[in-house]
Amino acid sequence: MHITEITKLLRGVKGPPRMVFDRLFDITEYTGELVLPEGIINWARTKFGDLSGVRKQQIIKITNRVTLEGTLFNALRALRPLPGGDPAGLDRVIEEHQSGCAFCKPDEKTPADAFGRLVGANAITASNVAKYDRWHSLIIPNEHHPLRFEPEQVADYFSLAEKWFEVVLEQHAVGQTQKQPRYPFLMWNCLWPAGSSVVHGHLQVTVTPGMHYPKVERLRRDAAAYRQQHGENYFEDLFLAHRVAGLALKEGDARIFVSLTPIKEKEIWVLLPGKSGLEHLAELGLWVGRVLTSLRANGTSSFNVAVYIPPPGPVPEDWDGFPLIARVVDRGDAAGRTADMGGMELYAASVVSTDPFQVIHQLRMQVGDAS
Ligand SMILES: [Zn+2]
Repeated sequence: MHITEITKLLRGVKGPPRMVFDRLFDITEYTGELVLPEGIINWARTKFGDLSGVRKQQIIKITNRVTLEGTLFNALRALRPLPGGDPAGLDRVIEEHQSGCAFCKPDEKTPADAFGRLVGANAITASNVAKYDRWHSLIIPNEHHPLRFEPEQVADYFSLAEKWFEVVLEQHAVGQTQKQPRYPFLMWNCLWPAGSSVVHGHLQVTVTPGMHYPKVERLRRDAAAYRQQHGENYFEDLFLAHRVAGLALKEGDARIFVSLTPIKEKEIWVLLPGKSGLEHLAELGLWVGRVLTSLRANGTSSFNVAVYIPPPGPVPEDWDGFPLIARVVDRGDAAGRTADMGGMELYAASVVSTDPFQVIHQLRMQVGDAS
């Protein structure tokens, strides 16, 4: 199965599942044509193989009608062989950074939070030396190499994040309501393409006051509007639509799918329906760890993880039905020099070359086996 065959696949889907799919996604297919002069024919043949696919390029444009997230898939780009990369070279650079690495000696070389440090089985917390937000700290794994982790360790990192959130929320639940920490956020940027300046692996935890970060609040509002209009839970329907397309996995309590409108390459969502509390973060972390080890086994060397967490305490707006959500995205070759996001991604729509059906195939082989 290939993303270029998605409309053909949907022709076989009828009834309520098709109705749900159509109210979530708009799909347009078209062809981009070009002329190859003699001077670049050999080059094009070595780069892309079959030239008919270069002269007429099939483009699939998918838009999420609810959130207006959207992606352009180019079949030609999807057909390109995956870049090989140089894992041994990357390992060497990562090891070179170990001498003088502050995160290898967090007690001596990183700041602590005012309340001290929290320690997990495989990680320790530190305060962020240059904070994005009023409450902003790090989960620093004991392991220096940012790509060496097992799912159980990721669960431990997430569990340490849970403890940090609880301390911050509890300690500061006083004073002016507007300034109290309310909305937790967890993220993980791995290596340079993902925006990480420090090589040693680290996750980041923040809690923000007032309202949630705009992208999270946008999703909450879209999901609330969807429920009002259709009487259904947006996230359940989103999973159903991906299952209809053959892009979803149901493992234990987790719902995992490869996004039809990825923000960039290989975006995967992990949801825990009915579980929105901080106490479920470790469980979510285990699934995120399984997704990441699958991606890593298939060449991912730089990634972002973002975890959307509904506010644990009372807030004025309605978060009913909003589960814990992790979004995982590949950011390209860690040794590469070209940024994978340009003007299109920042201001128009994402342009993606990886086929979601290839990603779900790999996930099924690895995550499916692990559960
Ligand atoms: Zn280190």
